[in-house]
Amino acid sequence: MLPLPVLEQAKEELTDWQGLGMSVMEDSHRSKAFVSFAAAAEDKLRRVMSIPDSYRVVFQQGGASGQFAAVPMNLGTTGSAAYINTGQWSKKAVAEARKFLDVSVVADEAASGYTTTPVVGSFEVPENASYLHYTPNETIGGVEFEYVPDVDVPLAADFSSTIASRPVDVSKFGVMYAGTQKNFGPAGLAIVIVRDDLVGNARPETPTIWDYAAMAKADSMVNTPPTFTWYILGLVLDWILDQGGVEAMGRRNKAKSDALYDYIDASTFYANRVERRSRSWMNIPFTLANSDLDATFLAGAGDAGLTNLKGHRSVGGMRASIYNAMPMEGVQALIDYMREFERTAA
Ligand code: PMP
Repeated sequence: MLPLPVLEQAKEELTDWQGLGMSVMEDSHRSKAFVSFAAAAEDKLRRVMSIPDSYRVVFQQGGASGQFAAVPMNLGTTGSAAYINTGQWSKKAVAEARKFLDVSVVADEAASGYTTTPVVGSFEVPENASYLHYTPNETIGGVEFEYVPDVDVPLAADFSSTIASRPVDVSKFGVMYAGTQKNFGPAGLAIVIVRDDLVGNARPETPTIWDYAAMAKADSMVNTPPTFTWYILGLVLDWILDQGGVEAMGRRNKAKSDALYDYIDASTFYANRVERRSRSWMNIPFTLANSDLDATFLAGAGDAGLTNLKGHRSVGGMRASIYNAMPMEGVQALIDYMREFERTAA
C-alpha cells in the first residue's frame, strides 16, 4: 500500500500540478517543473538514505529484474562474480548473471527450503570475483539478512523489498538497487545507488539505457522516464521525512513484525518456518495447520478488507506484506481476524 496522504495529494494534483493546469503525466519530462522536481526527489532520497557524495543515484526502467542484467554488465569487469542464493529472487539474479559472467554461488540455502540466511563467516568469495551479490530480503520466502556481509570485493544488493525500511550504511555497498513498487510508489523505476569508482566500466556492448555512466551523465533521462512513478516517489520521500525518516520507519516496522510473529509463534494453528534470526520485517509468510482451510481463510480475510494475503505458489499458505506504509492498525486488524478465524474454525 501507499501512504494515504500521498494518494490524496496525487488526487488533488491530478488535473493541476504545480499550477500548470495539467497532471505531471501530461507535462514534458524536459520541462523546468519536472526537471527540478526530479532533481529534488534525488536530493530527498539522498537525505532519507544518508547517501554519501561519493555515490551516484541513477533511476532506470526495467525494474529490479533489469538490474539482474545491469549489475553484471556494469560491474563484471573480471568476467566473474559471486552470488548468495537465499530464495526465488536471488536464483533469478544468478540465472541472469550467468548470461554475462562466470558465476559462483558461494552460499546456497536451497536445501533449507529457503528458510534461512548463511551464518556470518560461513562462505568465502573468490579473489577474482568482480562483486558479491545478495538479496537482503527475499520477498517470497520472507527471509532477511540480519547483517551486511563483510567482504573484500564490492557488495551488490537487491534491496527491492526492504529499501528504506530501516537505517542502512550505504558506504558498505558497491551498488544497491530496488524496484520502486514496494516502499517507494508505483512500479516503473529501479533506484540504483552506485559507488563512483564502479561507474564507467560497463562492457562495451551494454545498451545505453543500462549503462550507469550514460544514465548518470544524463540525470537518468537518456530516454523518457516514467514521470508519474518518479513524481509519486518524490511524494513518498516527503512522507518518510515527515514521519521521522528511516529511523522512524525502522521502529515501526520492527514493532509491526514483532506483533505478528509473536502472535503466530504463540499459536498452534498458524506457523512461520523461517529461522528466527532471518525473519523478514516486510514479508511474513505463514501457514495454517490445516491447509484445507486456506481458501476459507482468504475469503473471510477479503470480506474483512484484508487483501493480497495469498502466499506465493512456490511457498503456499499466506503472506502478509507489511511495507512502510502499512500502519500498526493494519497489522492489528490482521491479528484480530486470525484470532477470530482460529476460534471459529478450530
Ligand atoms: N527482487 C526482489 C527482492 C523482488 O521482490 C522483486 C519483485 N517482487 C524483484 C526482484 C523483481 O522486481 P521487478 O518486478 O521490478 O523486476
